Amino acid sequence: MKAVRFHEYGGPGVLKLEEFDTPKLGRDDVLITVRACALNHVDLDIRDGSSRLPISLPHTLGLEYAGVVDSIGSEVSGIKVGDRVTALHQVHCGECNWCQQGQEESCANTQLFGVQLPGGYASHVVAPSRAIIPLPDNLSFEDAAAAQVTFSSAWHALKARANLQVNETVLVNAAGSGIGIAALQVARLLGGRVIVSAGSDEKISRAIANGAVAGVNYNTHDLAQAVLELTDGHGVNVVMESVGGDVLVKSIQALSQNGRLVTVGAHAGETVPVDVISLFRRQTSLLGSVRATVTEIQHVLNLVGDGTFKTEIHQRFPLHEAADAHEVLAKRANFGKVILVPELDS
Ligand SMILES: [Zn+2]
Repeated sequence: MKAVRFHEYGGPGVLKLEEFDTPKLGRDDVLITVRACALNHVDLDIRDGSSRLPISLPHTLGLEYAGVVDSIGSEVSGIKVGDRVTALHQVHCGECNWCQQGQEESCANTQLFGVQLPGGYASHVVAPSRAIIPLPDNLSFEDAAAAQVTFSSAWHALKARANLQVNETVLVNAAGSGIGIAALQVARLLGGRVIVSAGSDEKISRAIANGAVAGVNYNTHDLAQAVLELTDGHGVNVVMESVGGDVLVKSIQALSQNGRLVTVGAHAGETVPVDVISLFRRQTSLLGSVRATVTEIQHVLNLVGDGTFKTEIHQRFPLHEAADAHEVLAKRANFGKVILVPELDS
């Protein structure tokens, strides 16, 4: 098999396409021929050593991928060679209290592809059978790979965590990112009225074309002030936050009385000052959200398959150009997901 691996932390240049023996399958394992693998920004943090995630070197990245079952272990049932499948990006233990309650996103024993487990930047991936989800017939490999993390994370954050209600106003930050594009669609499906923010006018225009009612460029405008103006001084009920730093601070100021901010990422700054007086007087809720339940993941994949949700694919690369693909994400030049397609190598 082939896989993109790195043997030391560093820039995109440490990513090398290498060939080695396909690992032996355990009794409960499934070998998947990868047809598409989506990049996530955390891949860059893992590669350069800043992620704080536990990995061992050499390492293969790739949280989310889809493909065809190549072979199965002796005790695997319900899955057969040739099936079109994706794997849960989070392989939960299935035994802890959280897993028993169907809150797999909170499982402390979770292993992620591309973190603890070799990921999808490869021609093949070995996955335990409990991680396998059959693809709906109408869901393509690329859409399945591109949709899982973004749509399920947005769904979990906006519905389960922020409890978004019909007719509430939502600010979706980073409208051009994978999570932003998904959150706009999820918020609208849940009945929200969506204002977006992004660091470029072009990304805002695209989000407005996709159903946002207004947008703010946070590089050229004061985000809080602009959102208050757009909401007649009331502020928004919910913020979907994935940027961090100053955007997070301004987003708290953009909330209405009883507003909820749910955060799923903080690449632009992990530690921020918070005005506690304003927090209690305005009854602000600051919420964290991580991953999604298995039920939520299956639900959003069905909604992508039936066309309710639409993925945006920015660009496709062969495995041997994984470093170039990382450069695109590093420059934040993408609107939508960047995908690795192993078939493009041959
Ligand atoms: Zn568990």
